[in-house]
Amino acid sequence: MRISKSRYMAGLQCLKRLYLQVHEPGLAAQGDGADVAIIQQGHDVGLLARELFPGGIEVDSSGGLGQAIRATKELVANPEVPAIFEGAFESQGVIVKTDILQRRKESLWRLIEVKSSTDLKERHLEDVAIQSYALSRSGFNLASVWLAHVNRKYELTEATVDPRQFFLLRNLTRRVQNLQPALTFQLRSQFRVLAMPKAPDLPTGPHCTNPVTCEFFHHCNQPKPNDYIGYLPRLHASAAEQLEEMGVESIHDIPDDFELSEFQRRVCDTMQTGEPWFSADLKAEFEALNYPLCFMDFETVNPAIPRFRGMHPYDHLPFQWSVHVQAQPDVAPEHFEFLAMDNGDPRPAFISSLCEALGEHGSIVVYNEQFESQRLWELAGWLPEYTQRIRDIQRRLWDLLPVVRKHVYHPAFGGSFSLKAVLPALVPEMTYEGMEVPNGQAAGLAWQAMIGGDCSEGERQSKRQALLDYCGQDTLAMVRLLEALQSAAPPKP
Ligand code: SF4
Repeated sequence: MRISKSRYMAGLQCLKRLYLQVHEPGLAAQGDGADVAIIQQGHDVGLLARELFPGGIEVDSSGGLGQAIRATKELVANPEVPAIFEGAFESQGVIVKTDILQRRKESLWRLIEVKSSTDLKERHLEDVAIQSYALSRSGFNLASVWLAHVNRKYELTEATVDPRQFFLLRNLTRRVQNLQPALTFQLRSQFRVLAMPKAPDLPTGPHCTNPVTCEFFHHCNQPKPNDYIGYLPRLHASAAEQLEEMGVESIHDIPDDFELSEFQRRVCDTMQTGEPWFSADLKAEFEALNYPLCFMDFETVNPAIPRFRGMHPYDHLPFQWSVHVQAQPDVAPEHFEFLAMDNGDPRPAFISSLCEALGEHGSIVVYNEQFESQRLWELAGWLPEYTQRIRDIQRRLWDLLPVVRKHVYHPAFGGSFSLKAVLPALVPEMTYEGMEVPNGQAAGLAWQAMIGGDCSEGERQSKRQALLDYCGQDTLAMVRLLEALQSAAPPKP
């Protein structure tokens, strides 16, 4: 039985997870497009880090692990090789692959683990520690271990990214050394669990989603009914424990005198009566609206490696907007939209077309103002000639989310106020189900695939249509939601 670095990390999270990965991998949930995108992003960041070590050679692993280990040894023995990428090592059943090994003086080496995160996380130390363990026990002369992670403050000022500025390097040697005794102990436990005839009987808990959501989550955590007390928003662990001790598992059974926050009591009441709640002050909120109403929504991607000048790692790059303009109440809205269709900088066309569609008058209705407003500020920073127009747009923003949060609750919200939860409850004829692009993350993935150049023309057109449908649906949803709220609002007291 062998333990790779990723298995070791899985075992650190939960020994049962490790066991299932090895013995019952078929029970794991299938990864989605988002997983693939994260892996691809990590790969791109890894390739960029290699530019810090010119002359480095990648180990060919096409012939399997044994061949990769032999090839690594040959490169280590060759003093002309300044750095090795993807070096493979095995010692006492532990297999690791190293991102970068840099040759230092006197046959010593520096290990560099590359991460696409913007800071050092506790699990990175464990990740590097297991590599250090395997290398040291293979007789490899490791002088120091480092982490290269993304520098969030880096700004792209030239046509290409400067890896020396993009990465921050941290020396973890001492901290990793301190982990070695615990690591040896942990490895022993992992090998012992793997030799067991069946998976260890371990309880579920917060570790099932921390530091990552376990791929066996649905296997271990049986689905709960919709009225499960754990779905009561922001229910404190001690309150949940108290209810469980009282034998209460359903929201319907929570006693009237059990202490809950005002919001939790409201959720509880609507669940118990099955009736939605609309506050008496809801109608007054609409008095701040000025026609024409512009319902606006943006789609963005936030790549680790900035693509255009002025951008930092993980800045949002807006590529699509949708606006429905309603001139008067009860008049059919007019639809305007923008979608960047190539891999050029979308920002200038995005903002100029948006300004035109929004005109200069009327409220701009959004769902979660913070997101759109922040994107507008960033656009003003990149394209200062639009600053005044952007300020004018920001002054007109009217956020539907806090209005719903403060004045409405429906048992079908399930404790969530996201548009995807609120819409089907209040406007049941509108749904995102069955849409090719059903959410913002999928939109980002579809757009990147569309402009990436690997799509046939047919696929490109199909993705384009799916993106337009999705973003258009978001703004039409706000139109319908506002109408539903206006007609459901109780008359003013
Ligand atoms: S879902 Fe939780 S208990 Fe089950 S294997 Fe994963 S981490 Fe372990």
